[in-house]
Amino acid sequence: MSKIVIALGGNALGNTPTEQKKAVEVTAKSIVDLAEENELIISHGNGPQVGMINLAMDMYLQARDDMDGMPFAECGAMSQGYIGYHLQNAIENELSKRNLDKMVISIISEVLVDKDDKAFENPSKPIGSFYSLEESQQIAQKYGFTFKEDAGRGYRRVVPSPRPVDILQKRAIKDLYNAGALVIAGGGGGIPVVKEEGKLRGVDAVIDKDFTAAKLASLVGADLLIILTAVDKVAIHFGQENEEWISKMSVAEAEKYLADGEFKEGSMKPKIEAALSFVNAKDGNKVLITSLDKAIDGLKGLTGTYIG
Ligand code: ADP
Ligand code: MG
Repeated sequence: MSKIVIALGGNALGNTPTEQKKAVEVTAKSIVDLAEENELIISHGNGPQVGMINLAMDMYLQARDDMDGMPFAECGAMSQGYIGYHLQNAIENELSKRNLDKMVISIISEVLVDKDDKAFENPSKPIGSFYSLEESQQIAQKYGFTFKEDAGRGYRRVVPSPRPVDILQKRAIKDLYNAGALVIAGGGGGIPVVKEEGKLRGVDAVIDKDFTAAKLASLVGADLLIILTAVDKVAIHFGQENEEWISKMSVAEAEKYLADGEFKEGSMKPKIEAALSFVNAKDGNKVLITSLDKAIDGLKGLTGTYIG
């Protein structure tokens, strides 16, 4: 039995509530396949979901001419609850189909970030609605938000993407896990909080879910982190004629490919960086990057990319 943290990518959940309800049924099958042979902790992304919640809140607040109502951290908490419910529900159904008895529990997870993280000086992650330049300037002045032009489509609010320092519910996660539960934690990278004068406070930021999954894996003492995404393997020269799918990367190789710019910002690059942070955290730690439906084959060493 290996102790494994799984990070579920966007394709495990889909983009809309209806898509998600369907997608999690398939996802739950892969998860329970893995859970039959291993001890699992599950983490997941929330990009489309938190975007949807944030947009809905924006519209509600615009209708009231008040943007000051629903902080982004709260939107993240809502997304954890809603995705956690769908995952729990689908996993419970799959377990009962197989006559397996296991607790399934999702934990609303706060993740400590450093208030001096360099990311706060350069907000980079676009969230919420598109605005004209004039509208964005008005909102920026009134609420102190930062806006950036987003790929010719208009102006969007941007928030920082700091690194996770600690997961505040780690004790609950470990205790439930040790009691045999299938724990879902750190969803959407976790709700970012900073500590100020001894008090924890949610901040408007997005933590990359791949980094939080790596942190979670270290904190619970997992031996393997599996990042399940839309591709079976990691490639070098991705999308080019000389594309090459990689089965195994040493730390040195991964570092070299990173330096060569082989992995796209915002998609594969954070996964490789997160993988390295976990592999470097403890001797013997390994990372597998593969797709959801190849997870079992990947574990057998038949496909996927191993790092470490
Ligand atoms: P997730 O929701 O799982 O985090 P992302 O879209 O963020 O998914 O990242 C996975 C995507 O990264 C793949 O679908 C692929 O298009 C892209 N990608 C970028 N560079 C590479 C690479 N070098 N090898 C494989 N995939 C890559
Ligand atoms: Mg991603």
